Formats: sequence, C-alpha cells, structure tokens
Amino acid sequence: MASKRLKSDIQRDRILEPVRHYWGFRELRPLQEEAIRAGLDQRDSVVVLPTGGGKSLCYQVPPLVAERVDVVVSPLIALMKDQVDGLRACGYPAVCLHSGMPQCERETAVRDILAGKYRLVFVSPERILTPWFLGLLGRLDVRAFSIDEAHCISQWGHDFRRDYRQLATLKERFPRASVHAYTATATERVRQDIAEQLRLDDPLMLVGNFDRPNLTYRVLPRVDGNAQVADIIRRHHKEAAIVYCLSRKDTERLAGALRKAHINAKPYHAGMDPDDRRRTQDAFANESLDVVTATVAFGMGIDRSNVRCIIHATMPKSVEHYQQETGRAGRDGLEAECVLLYSSADVIRWEQLIRSSAEDAADPQAVIAAGTGHLEQMRLYCTSLQCRHRALSEYFDQAYAKTDCEACDVCLKEMEGVEDATETAQKILSCVARVREGFGVVYVAEVLTGADTDAVRRRGHKGLSTYGLLGDVPRNQTINWVHQLVDQGLLDRSLDDHPVLKLNDASWEVMRGKRRVMLMKSKPAAVKQSKADTESWEGVDQGLYEYLRVLRRELAEQDGVPAYVIFGDVAIRDMARKRPVTPDAFLGVHGVGDVKLARFGARFTREIKTYCGAHGLPVG
Ligand code: ADP
Repeated sequence: MASKRLKSDIQRDRILEPVRHYWGFRELRPLQEEAIRAGLDQRDSVVVLPTGGGKSLCYQVPPLVAERVDVVVSPLIALMKDQVDGLRACGYPAVCLHSGMPQCERETAVRDILAGKYRLVFVSPERILTPWFLGLLGRLDVRAFSIDEAHCISQWGHDFRRDYRQLATLKERFPRASVHAYTATATERVRQDIAEQLRLDDPLMLVGNFDRPNLTYRVLPRVDGNAQVADIIRRHHKEAAIVYCLSRKDTERLAGALRKAHINAKPYHAGMDPDDRRRTQDAFANESLDVVTATVAFGMGIDRSNVRCIIHATMPKSVEHYQQETGRAGRDGLEAECVLLYSSADVIRWEQLIRSSAEDAADPQAVIAAGTGHLEQMRLYCTSLQCRHRALSEYFDQAYAKTDCEACDVCLKEMEGVEDATETAQKILSCVARVREGFGVVYVAEVLTGADTDAVRRRGHKGLSTYGLLGDVPRNQTINWVHQLVDQGLLDRSLDDHPVLKLNDASWEVMRGKRRVMLMKSKPAAVKQSKADTESWEGVDQGLYEYLRVLRRELAEQDGVPAYVIFGDVAIRDMARKRPVTPDAFLGVHGVGDVKLARFGARFTREIKTYCGAHGLPVG
C-alpha cells in the first residue's frame, strides 16, 4: 500500500517538474493528472473539459516525461501555429507541419523531427494519412496520437469535418500507439460517437465540470441593441470583446454603429475576402484590435486567452452553440462577462431560417423538429429566471451545488419586476384586440406608445381607446414587454413571413383579471461586480498592470507573436500584485517558468523596479 502511494507520488513529481519548468504552474487542474497518466500509460482516452479547462497541457506533458515524440492532430493551421509559438516561447520543443509551409522549411522540420529535436508534432487531419507523413510516422515509431477538437469526427457534434473521419484508421495502422481524444463538447452521444469512430480500445472517459465560475452570465431584454452593445463594451475598456451576430450583414451594420460610437470594431464573417478576414483575425490576436463583431465563423481559430466579454446581439440557435461561443471568454481563468441580448423576435427569425434551410434536406420534418427543439431549449434559458450557471450545468446533465453563484444577473438580482405588470399586460392585450389581431409587435407597440406615424394615421388608429395608453414608456421597452407576453404564452404570434399578434385563451384570462402577470425590466445601472472579478484584482496595482501590458505588447511585436505568447493576463496581473524585483521573486509569479525567467526576467524586474520607485509602491 505504502509503496503504491510512493510510486504514485513519484509519478506526480515527474509530471509536475516539467509543468513548473516550462509553464511555471505549480498545480494541475482537475483531471489533468488523470489525462496525463493515461497518456503515459498509453491507455486510450476521451477527455472532455470545458474551454479553458487546460486540455493542451494533458497532451503536452506525456512526451516530455516519457522522452518520446507524440503527434497532435489539430483542425486549423492558425490554431496549430499559435500553439507552437506559445510552446516555443516557454522553451518547449514543438513543431507543426502544414500545407502552407514552403518545401525547404518542411524538409528542415522533418530532418529535425527525425533527429529527435522535438517532443510534439502538430499536423492537420488531411495531412496525417498522406503517404509521406505515414512514412515519417513509421520511422518515428509514434506511441501516442492526440486528437484535438475531436467532436469534429462526429456527425452529432456541431462542427463535423469530413477529413476527421479518416482518423478512424489510426488504431489499425498503428496498433502499438494509443489514441487520446480531446473535446469541449459535452453531450454523452457525441462522446460515445467519438470513442466508436476512433475505434478506441476500452477508453478512459474523463469528463470535467462544465461550470465556468469565472464567467458572469447576463441575459438582457434587447431594447436598443446597438446602444446596449456599446454600453457593455465600454465596461471593458482596452479589453478584448467578441459580439456574435446572426447574419453577415448584422456584423457589418453593428461594427459601423460601434465605430460611430467611437469604439474601434471590425466585422468578421465567412463571406469576406480571405485576406481581410485574416487581417482582422491577426489584429485581434496581436491585440491591436479589441472588438470584433462576428458570425459563428469566428470561432475555433481564436486562441486569445484574455477575451473579457462575449456579447450575443441575438440569441444563438442552441445551448450547445451558446456554451461553445461563451467558452471563448476568460480562457485564462480570469473573470469575464457574457451578455445575451434577447428578444423573442430572434426565435421567429431562427424558425424561419431553420425552415428554409430544411427545404433541401432528405427529411425536412426531422431537421425542423431537431432545430426547433434546440431553439426551444435556448429560449427557455433566456426567459427563465433561474441561476444561469445552474441552468447551463443542468442542461449538460451535471448537478450544480451552489445556491447562489454570485455571477449571473439572476443571483446578483439585477432584474426587477414591473410594479403594475398585470395592468400593463391588459393594456397591451386590449390593444391587440383593438387592432383586430392583424398587426405585428412593432406596430402594436407604436400604437400603445402613441406614435404619430403615417401608417397609424392612415389606418385611423389614432382614434383607438388604446392609442397612447403607454405613452410614458419608451417604444423599445414596450416592444420588449410584448415579447415577454409572447414568451409566457399569454399572447400568440403567427408563424409566417409577417407575423401578427393573436390573442389566446390565456390572453382573455389576463384581460378578465383572472390571471396575474409578471414582467421584468433591468434595474438602471444595475451591473454589479462578480466575486471572481473582485478577487482577481485583489492587491493588484492597476497602473503597473497597464504599464506591463504595454511592455508585453512591445516585446510581442518585436518577436512577431501574439501578446499572450509572452505572458498571459494572469501572469501580468500577478506581477502587478507581487511586484517582483529579483529573479527568485519573479519565478514565484504564476506562469513564469525557467525559460521565461531567463528570457524576460531581467527586463520585467527592471521595469517593475523603476515603476514602483516612481510611484512609491512597495516591491516584492
Ligand atoms: P483548453 O484547450 O481546454 O480550452 P487550454 O489548454 O488552452 O484550454 O488552457 C487554458 C489556459 O489555462 C491556458 O492559458 C493555459 O496555459 C492555462 N492552464 C492550463 N493548465 C494550467 C494549470 N495546471 N495551472 C494554471 N494554468 C493552466
């Protein structure tokens, strides 16, 4: 027993030693040790950790400890390059082989791989089974393959890629090697499918906790979308933000509106010129651009770990998408905010899109049913007044232990009920009756708020008893309340290209005073700081933090790498907290390993000393 424990401790030390040396981390995150051990023991595995959970470390450590060369399959060239840059900055010997490489560079890389210079070789799925790469693999006697973003192999996942399918033959071709699949996609079905498709042999299934306590989730009624987005972004001055939009046009319109509001934002979508797209992505990665308005196309290639804000200007079409997209916030573990601007109009828009995209499907009804099912779950998330962390965890079949997450609009009590909600609802519903159930949300809201438009005049609706009944409520707020009634089933909306509002039995119950209604509105200036936010700033000198970020950017520009490759925000914040001025103290900073100490220690400690001297700050 004792010797078994001793063996396990020795192995832990063997794992922790390179983790400290290369990355400067002192501890492992949940399940990392188990995943690393599976790599060392060459036991097939499926590792499911949320974005930011630290999957990369799990396949980066085993080849160091076992002194061998492992292969990582990664879906995007940009992603591979960023990872290799990041690893090299820590002194880790890694290389990638991809189609965009000049022949001579590739030849050198292969020579160096064969000479044992590298521990990790990154390759794309379409390359790995080409004859020349198979030849190389044979000569290397590879013992472990890791498949990043492994859900791409499953048709049930949301990013199915045909070229992942051929990875199924890896186990057959390399019977002595183990295969390790990594993904952030949580559903059981996808997990099983990954194991089957890759023909894994009794794989170890490691499924992490999906809750991201450092993220604060908010759902706001969309009242004036552009202005709301601008307000939220202003809370994140000099920080990275991504705003997800539903269509390509929306991304461009919103970027334009934000620029008018003096926020430097650029759009990103699949219909853009590839060079423009690349430029935007690079600018975002190297921190010369902080705000991108994007469609879902802005996704996997983003490795910036310090995204502090993800906004959904419209509701995404499934909770899985929402989890994936918000997953890009706060990957470094520091606080970040995720805000979804919701209107039930989004549901209608998605329904129309689902119906039109199903037209070409083999079984359109099945496609529509699946799509609307996902949509309904997403709508429930937006409209329920349950803790957001709990709702997301439970959606992914995980229990949530806390009663107050202290990091969502519901638990932070940022919403409030409208005082005379039932009366307001009665006014809205009577107006729908007065216009003879023949008009949509916006028009009804205009009549209620007493808008003096051509259409209202022409139809003689100025004379209605409900005209101007909500004259003191802003138009967009009224629109939002109408949507809230639709969401609560107290009012119907027809499902066609020009949806009109219809009364149902519940509407009549409300009008007859037989049913009470709750309507919500955001409290003015209600946004509170989450616990994660307060804690991560404890003891940090903000001025020094900003000063060191500038220094980091200069060094990154010199090296031609993204800023976070030099140091992540966690490390910079820890420096601004501990203010180290000696090599030993610098090594105590989170994220400083031996190579980074050697490369940057002198420069950073000198600057910290100067800054602290000039500002009368104590040093560590
Ligand atoms: P994933 O691939 O699961 O999304 P990453 O591997 O990119 O996550 O890791 C996210 C962040 O967490 C990175 O900045 C990484 O350096 C950091 N990280 C990983 N493991 C640890 C650890 N044991 N301690 C501290 N930070 C870690």
